Amino acid sequence: MEGATEEVADTQMLHAALEANRPAPASGGGKIVLIPSWERTAKDRTMREIGHFIGGKQVAGTSGKFGDVYNPASGEVTGKVSLANAREVDVAVAAANAAWPAWAATPALRRARVMFKLKELIERDRAQMSAIITAEHGKVLSDADGEVQRGLEVVEFACGIPHLLRGEYTDAVGTGIDAWSIRQPLGVVAGITPFNFPIMVPLWMIPIALATGNCFILKPSEKDPSVALKLAALLTEAGLPDGVFAVVQGGREAVESIIAHPGIAAISFVGSTAIAETIYKGGTSAGKRVQALGGAKNHLVVMPDADIDDAVDALMGSAYGAAGERCMAVSVAVAVGSAGDELVSKLAPRVRALKVAPGVDKEAEMGPLVTGEHLAKVRGYVDLGVKEGANLVVDGRGLKLQGYENGFFLGGCLFDNVTTDMRIYQDEIFGPVLSVVRAPDVATATRMINAHPYGNGVALFTNDGGTARDFTQAIQIGMVGINVPIPVPMSFHSFGGWKQSLFGDHHIYGMEGVRFYTRYKAVTQRWTGGAKKGPEFTMPTLGR
Ligand code: NAD
Repeated sequence: MEGATEEVADTQMLHAALEANRPAPASGGGKIVLIPSWERTAKDRTMREIGHFIGGKQVAGTSGKFGDVYNPASGEVTGKVSLANAREVDVAVAAANAAWPAWAATPALRRARVMFKLKELIERDRAQMSAIITAEHGKVLSDADGEVQRGLEVVEFACGIPHLLRGEYTDAVGTGIDAWSIRQPLGVVAGITPFNFPIMVPLWMIPIALATGNCFILKPSEKDPSVALKLAALLTEAGLPDGVFAVVQGGREAVESIIAHPGIAAISFVGSTAIAETIYKGGTSAGKRVQALGGAKNHLVVMPDADIDDAVDALMGSAYGAAGERCMAVSVAVAVGSAGDELVSKLAPRVRALKVAPGVDKEAEMGPLVTGEHLAKVRGYVDLGVKEGANLVVDGRGLKLQGYENGFFLGGCLFDNVTTDMRIYQDEIFGPVLSVVRAPDVATATRMINAHPYGNGVALFTNDGGTARDFTQAIQIGMVGINVPIPVPMSFHSFGGWKQSLFGDHHIYGMEGVRFYTRYKAVTQRWTGGAKKGPEFTMPTLGR
């Protein structure tokens, strides 16, 4: 760690340090050229290498290990992402630790100006950012643009950081004694993010962490790593000093190095529950502050008094949008009482009619799944549901798209009469598969949802205010929507689930984000001259 700190005194030396360990390309061919993905043209069919961003520059990886990045619509490998080792994580942390004192001492107003500029730059380049996301994730362009928008809203929130960091002051807590509190940055913090929102989830963390005066190391998903490098370029253009932000690509080895690194003060994680729990336990036992958001199984309850057409519209968007690869996707519709038959009969033709196509197709309502491996897992759950005895009303397994036979496509699937003992009800499937469960009344639906181990989001569709109020009070879920299918809080509130959907004490972004990335300090100050007597030091009164 100390050796690495010396190296970052000079950014050139830092890059030299990385390059020195760089092995010859595995292909044995010429030198692999680092081409930012957004500059890749259709003509450029050479294997693109996706590297890191450390000390204010894009650098090639030195570990010699790579992961494949796909175009999910065609099934082709379109790039190789470097997988960082402990040494590369160490160099990024050392660069960040060297940059931290000056960044922490920069007035909040100036840090906010970097955020104002970043907002402008994201707005300028949002179409390009959406294209990068669609190329590696597969989601339709309008979904990609939607996630850029939601991330941008957190940047807008962070623009207000001078106001958000204002402390509390109490005058004269004793004779000549005043007291106040301030919030100070933690140091170098890290974010480990999932594939399904490759820009929005990093932006849940980064604007607030930086604006509060921390340095940030991002470890994006290795499945869609390029848009993180685009963000790094925009942060530099916005005026962020070198070293304050780094992107370290990688998988398990990089994550384990982050958990163990003594130079990292806190970790924000978003991903599946098993990894969230491991990171929470590992990070907290290494003395770090950790917020780890996990998986989900979100229910949408349809009451018999609800407008069924509204509920069907809501389910189409929330269950099949982004091919169900959203942590707030609705994967269970709970039809209460007489609502069930009408709901299923109206849903089925809509699911059959879903326009499934590559994400770049402007007409597409749903794109492919992220990888072949994930497609196989989701299909496996559909097979399992049939075996478990659920009624597969719409079967999307036979979908074939001409010209995209190797793409990772699955048509929308709809199960009816799913029961709580089935694994398709219990597990997070993370694909375009909606299960309808029948419940006799709202009390049964509430008990069922409360018994589920996940607790991210829930929605209730009803026309009865009393039912809505009772449900909101009783439900053990972190985010609740009434006649709103995906109740993702705006950037000035905070996002987070309960139970197995979140490990840690803080939800993410909004004021919870400000609290997570800062340490509270209370100051009590006494000046001996502060209790002067005499008319010139007494409190003025009106009329004098
Ligand atoms: P994932 O858990 O597989 O990966 C998340 C991150 O952890 C990635 O950066 C990955 O490289 C890393 N990782 C993977 N395996 C690891 C291991 N063994 N050790 C250490 N690190 C490892 O999740 P994913 O498939 O990328 O994303 C989908 C999951 O994320 C779903 O479960 C979804 O519900 C969840 N998610 C939750 C939220 C939320 O807000 N609660 C938001 C988005 C996604």
